[in-house]
Amino acid sequence: MKRYDVIIIGTGQATGTILGNLLEEKKSVAIVEADRVGGSCVNWGCTPTKTLIASARTAHMIKRGSDFGIEVDSYHTNFSKVMDRVNAIRNESNKGFTAWLEETVDFYPGFGTFVDAHTIAIEGTHIYGGLIVIHTGTRARVPSIPGIESVPWLDNKGILALNELPSHLLIIGGSYIGLEFAQAFRRLGSEVTLFESSPQIISKEDEDISEIARSVLEDEGIEIFTSASISSVSQKADQQISVEYQGGTITGSHLLVGAGRIPNSDGLNLSNAGVKIDERGFIIVDDTCRTSVPHIYALGDVNGRGAFTHTSVHDGQVFLSALSDGSKKISDRTLTYSLFIDPPLARVGMNEKQAKQHNIPYLVATKEMASVSRAKEKDETKGRIKILVNKDDDTIIGAAVFGVGGDEVIGMIALAMQAGLRYQTLQETVIPHPTVSELIPWVFSSLQSEA
Ligand SMILES: Cc1cc2nc3c(=O)[nH]c(=O)nc-3n(C[C@H](O)[C@H](O)[C@H](O)COP(=O)(O)OP(=O)(O)OC[C@H]3O[C@@H](n4cnc5c(N)ncnc54)[C@H](O)[C@@H]3O)c2cc1C
Repeated sequence: MKRYDVIIIGTGQATGTILGNLLEEKKSVAIVEADRVGGSCVNWGCTPTKTLIASARTAHMIKRGSDFGIEVDSYHTNFSKVMDRVNAIRNESNKGFTAWLEETVDFYPGFGTFVDAHTIAIEGTHIYGGLIVIHTGTRARVPSIPGIESVPWLDNKGILALNELPSHLLIIGGSYIGLEFAQAFRRLGSEVTLFESSPQIISKEDEDISEIARSVLEDEGIEIFTSASISSVSQKADQQISVEYQGGTITGSHLLVGAGRIPNSDGLNLSNAGVKIDERGFIIVDDTCRTSVPHIYALGDVNGRGAFTHTSVHDGQVFLSALSDGSKKISDRTLTYSLFIDPPLARVGMNEKQAKQHNIPYLVATKEMASVSRAKEKDETKGRIKILVNKDDDTIIGAAVFGVGGDEVIGMIALAMQAGLRYQTLQETVIPHPTVSELIPWVFSSLQSEA
């Protein structure tokens, strides 16, 4: 049996972060991957969706041409070209990553499982690891809806493999994945109907923010049903899938399921190694990504401590630190993320709902994007900036920048939070005009007790 200092199971997003360091330290490394190298982000997540969204935004701006004095007589979506572009970009990343692994480590294509705490089996081959890193990510959760097993529903992988534009896309799930695909396909020309079981879409976000997102999407012609209780799904004929809910039956050509993610921990035979999982199947780790077995670490989405590429990458840094001075911890990071609908909803830290849940005394400042010069100049005035400040010490506890450029602007607020700055420091910062960021110092003048 071949022996390695480190075995990494799954080429999740921290692989690039940790591999260079491990190789520099002359560690022998084996990498096991069951599917396409680069994991969800590169192949079925961030990269292809944001590429698709760029085509969708182009269509949207062409449609809006006359608002800017540009008259366009007609346009149409060439969906195979849209997908060629998506495939070209994701394939390039996948190829580069694969070539790097093949050159630098022993690469084992195949599904890895634990034989014991140091031994991994890949389709009959056994290898030994001194350290083992589980980096296997998550997959779409299949909702328990009667009939779901008999219809050709799509998850994020399936929808990104389509070679025809759905005439009518039905979507179950009104959170990040569902909303991004809803707007992208609507802009490309599909009819879109979305069902969300909670009373509001993006149910974790504050109600006012969720309402703005809903109006953005409905204004573009997306049909949204909240508090939707789906009793069954069925297929009548090819490209005729029906969703039955309390309000009636809606039939579309394709069905996307974006109803949450489950960890890829179930096939690993973790009990052979003694690695513990929680009740949802996420691998339990301490603040350094170490599992219940000291020489086994779990990085990225599979440990349930983050669900984004940047949190996975940070886990990689935490892991490297655990191997040296132990100075980095998962809990050091300020959580930030974006929902890449257009305009983007960028978030950092807590929202009002969470501040209330944690009994944190806060003040809140808001500003409508309609009052931001740059947004007016671009004629993209939908959205709101909302920042929460701790009443006791004036530090920022969270923000939503929902509007044009929000996904970039949020970085400065995340930095202020990470550095523990008081809001007055942002207030005193002079920022170039005309940008969306220049509004941030002015937002604080509206600080008050409730939004
Ligand atoms: C549609 C969609 C859009 C997204 N957009 C964004 C975004 O814009 N920004 C963002 O930050 N995040 C986004 N995410 C989330 C992001 O993709 C993940 O958080 C990110 O990929 C981190 O995952 P990971 O590193 O834990 O593992 P992954 O990237 O999921 O990689 C895990 C790898 O492990 C492999 N694997 C699993 N089990 C085994 C096994 N037993 N043996 C061998 N290999 C195995 C899998 O095949 C996979 O390649 C999106 C996700 C989806 C689904």
